[in-house]
Amino acid sequence: MRNFAYGRPSSLEQATAFLAKSPRGTFLMGGGTDLIGEIKEGLVLPEAVLDLKAVPGLASIRKTPEGLAIGALTTIAELSDSPEVKSDYPVLHEAARVVASPQLRNVGTVGGNLCQRPRCWYYRDASVRCTKKGGTKCYAEKGRNKYHAIFAGGICYAVFPSDLAPALVALDARFVLAAASGERTVAAADFYAPPIVNVRRETVLSGQEILREVRIPPAKKGDRSAYVKFIERGSWDFAVVSAAVWMTGGSAVRDIKIVCGGVAPVPWRLKKAEAALKGAGPSERAVRAAVSAAADEAAPLAENGYKVDVLKAVAADAVLKAFKAPARG
Ligand SMILES: Cc1cc2nc3c(=O)[nH]c(=O)nc-3n(C[C@H](O)[C@H](O)[C@H](O)COP(=O)(O)OP(=O)(O)OC[C@H]3O[C@@H](n4cnc5c(N)ncnc54)[C@H](O)[C@@H]3O)c2cc1C
Repeated sequence: MRNFAYGRPSSLEQATAFLAKSPRGTFLMGGGTDLIGEIKEGLVLPEAVLDLKAVPGLASIRKTPEGLAIGALTTIAELSDSPEVKSDYPVLHEAARVVASPQLRNVGTVGGNLCQRPRCWYYRDASVRCTKKGGTKCYAEKGRNKYHAIFAGGICYAVFPSDLAPALVALDARFVLAAASGERTVAAADFYAPPIVNVRRETVLSGQEILREVRIPPAKKGDRSAYVKFIERGSWDFAVVSAAVWMTGGSAVRDIKIVCGGVAPVPWRLKKAEAALKGAGPSERAVRAAVSAAADEAAPLAENGYKVDVLKAVAADAVLKAFKAPARG
């Protein structure tokens, strides 16, 4: 492991000023549960690591007139234990509850979870120079691709592994990005960028920006939501496929978002199913037909065709679970 400087900024201004001076060689650290592994494996070679834990004001969950504001340094355990999240945003509560293990949820942060790097075994092998590491080839495309993308691959088939990201896209969350030059706010859906935009990164964060806060609009009367995650092992694991659903309306759907994890390099909306289900009631047949038609647009690789069937089951189960969830009164 190469030596690197370790900094513990005591204000956001200090952190962003340091990043502005050294954007390429500086890596941000929340809980360190992903970053430390990457450093140990030689996947990243930082000149400096900025530990954000001493920055005040980044680890809170606040109810505001605009909704809920979640600081990036909030741990996943704090998120999952939050009574506001549990009552107003069940999809986020359910997603947070199934992230990794209790130990990782106690240390891992919301910001780190949303900015974590993919788990693709070619990317995680320091000896493989794939497109994500500046090479010219995605080794998964013709190699071992059981866990890889069935949508929007091409240059890179690594899937985005976060459970929180699909839930936050479904909830129309916005992310506040802080830099020395000021702040900007982007929609959660636009925060994630497919490989065609920049194969080296999964998000639109510039090297000078810190994800400071997540903002979720206020829950409204009639809102329902649910999360379903399919994992391969009986204990904790990354999602093979997951689905986050938010919907509103009475017995008929007025608006719906179905956002899937484990199937694409970014959280993936089943827009065709969403369009088909607007105005629909809780008919299992209609839900499964709508989701199946959307899943059939997938382009699986040699070893991951099974994911299309898993997606059909998981996404339909999530929609049906949301239908059965109590609507916010
Ligand atoms: C064994 C194992 C199983 C896991 N299972 C799951 C799972 O089932 N579901 C799931 O969703 N996740 C899973 N994870 C991922 C885990 O949730 C993440 O490791 C954790 O959320 C990352 O949080 P952290 O605060 O430790 O991030 P860090 O390791 O500190 O950072 C991760 C990345 O985000 C960047 N970063 C951190 N904070 C910020 C910020 N505020 N602004 C900008 N960039 C930032 C870092 O530079 C780094 O690149 C698993 C991890 C492990 C090791």
